[in-house]
Amino acid sequence: MSDPTSGPTASSGFDYDVVVIGAGYGGFDAAKHAAEHGLKVAIVESRDMGGTCVNRGCVPSKALLAAAGRVRELADAEHLAGFGIHAAPVRFERQKIADHARQLVETIRTNLTRTLERAGVTILRGKGRLDGPQRVVVRESGGGVERAYSARDVIIATGSDPFVPPGIETDGRTVFTSDESINLEWLPRWIAIIGSGYIGLEFADVYTALGCEVTMIEALDRVMPTFDPDIAKLAARQLIDGRDIDARAGVLAQKVTPGCPVRIELVDMATREPVETLEVDAVLVATGRVPVSKDLGLASVGVETQRGFIPVDDTMRVLADGAPVAHLWAVGDVTGKMMLAHTAAAQGAVAVDNILGHPRRIDYRSIPAATFTHPEISSVGLSEAEAKELAGQEGFELGAVRSYFKANSKALAELESDGLMKLLFRKDTGEVLGAHIYGLHAADLIQEVANAVARRQSVRQLANEVHTHPTLSEVVEVAYKQAAMAVASAQPSLVGV
Ligand SMILES: Cc1cc2nc3c(=O)[nH]c(=O)nc-3n(C[C@H](O)[C@H](O)[C@H](O)COP(=O)(O)OP(=O)(O)OC[C@H]3O[C@@H](n4cnc5c(N)ncnc54)[C@H](O)[C@@H]3O)c2cc1C
Repeated sequence: MSDPTSGPTASSGFDYDVVVIGAGYGGFDAAKHAAEHGLKVAIVESRDMGGTCVNRGCVPSKALLAAAGRVRELADAEHLAGFGIHAAPVRFERQKIADHARQLVETIRTNLTRTLERAGVTILRGKGRLDGPQRVVVRESGGGVERAYSARDVIIATGSDPFVPPGIETDGRTVFTSDESINLEWLPRWIAIIGSGYIGLEFADVYTALGCEVTMIEALDRVMPTFDPDIAKLAARQLIDGRDIDARAGVLAQKVTPGCPVRIELVDMATREPVETLEVDAVLVATGRVPVSKDLGLASVGVETQRGFIPVDDTMRVLADGAPVAHLWAVGDVTGKMMLAHTAAAQGAVAVDNILGHPRRIDYRSIPAATFTHPEISSVGLSEAEAKELAGQEGFELGAVRSYFKANSKALAELESDGLMKLLFRKDTGEVLGAHIYGLHAADLIQEVANAVARRQSVRQLANEVHTHPTLSEVVEVAYKQAAMAVASAQPSLVGV
């Protein structure tokens, strides 16, 4: 499996053209892309092929959300009655829902591994680290034997782990992170979720659909602090206030002690005065993620991390003192840029294109993000605050329009018309700067806007594109049309794009 003499021939003098450390989404895409372009590639993985996304992230969480979403829908007697449907009381088997997630993980992990093997990538099982320029040492899993490989280019794709703040003790059973939560080993009657980012929200969606009572604890002064404030306000009304969730903002879980019950000592975030001690059945710690960059031998190539993240430029070259390190690249969560699976994959492809001599830079502004709650939340491009700042710097007027799901025939037919899209654009050129959506299938709707942002398109052009009727995509069409009118009234002389 680790014979560097097999397969395509590497550039003279090297065991491999490319060695990738870490087989998550970032490493996978980089390795596949490089091998498909004729490079001799090895990928090093110390845990499960597929990394966080496949084993402990996107894949199992979306399987749980798919099942939980159906339970929620079938249990919503009022919603069903609106269609004249009266279903029997809904029953579910927790273990079978957990099995669905586990089986999906296994299928996708197997497919991904086979794809790499078919592409001719050598899979090295063990822990990799740099040992000076263009050299990777792998401590093999099990035996602890170390082997060194030379590589013309090295790509670091070691990802991230859950962050557990000081004062919080986890036991994996009563106090746990998403790593354990995705196994759905039991359903606590009352669970506290610390953090109201996308991971906390998605698990709150799962747990409440399956009958758990949730307390959501947010240290910042509003829940869902990372979302557009208007979108967050509307979403919170349905996703939090409309469910069995008691949300508290501005409080810090200073001490969490596992057990039966779990004790949570809450203090006021601003004053650090004690607020309350909660006794709950379980705690999910969803307070962000930290890069995996220790013990990578970065010092051997003169690289210093920034809060653990590996500094990179937009070509994915690793930086040391602000200058690129020759033949060293980093992609994915370990770089700290929009920590999402498709960002990691996109960065991997950019790194390899540059290795292949096709210069390319990543465009973070056009990368969408989604939260797969019921309904979903999505965004792309600039936040309103960032867009205002840019408008000030560049001296243009910022446009913002809102398009409502309650005016959309498809949403009304589905009896799911709570939803809003906010579109941000330049009033001078009409260029789309960002969009924020809450509503049915928001995660799918955002892609159209992401493509427009990638092409820096103007709403004047986009407003002429015909959308299928009746579809939710008409929410986007309405926003484009409103924006185009705003541009036309601000710039009557502007024609075309
Ligand atoms: C609960 C949850 C839900 C999520 N949902 C989504 C979603 O819906 N959509 C989305 O886009 N993103 C989602 N994410 C985020 C997504 O999982 C990550 O952004 C993505 O996995 C990052 O990919 P990566 O390749 O950078 O790192 P990882 O997937 O973390 O992979 C890194 C790999 O490197 C290996 N490794 C580390 N160090 C070494 C070493 N020294 N030697 C060998 N191997 C090593 C690790 O074992 C790991 O397999 C979710 C995350 C979580 C936790």
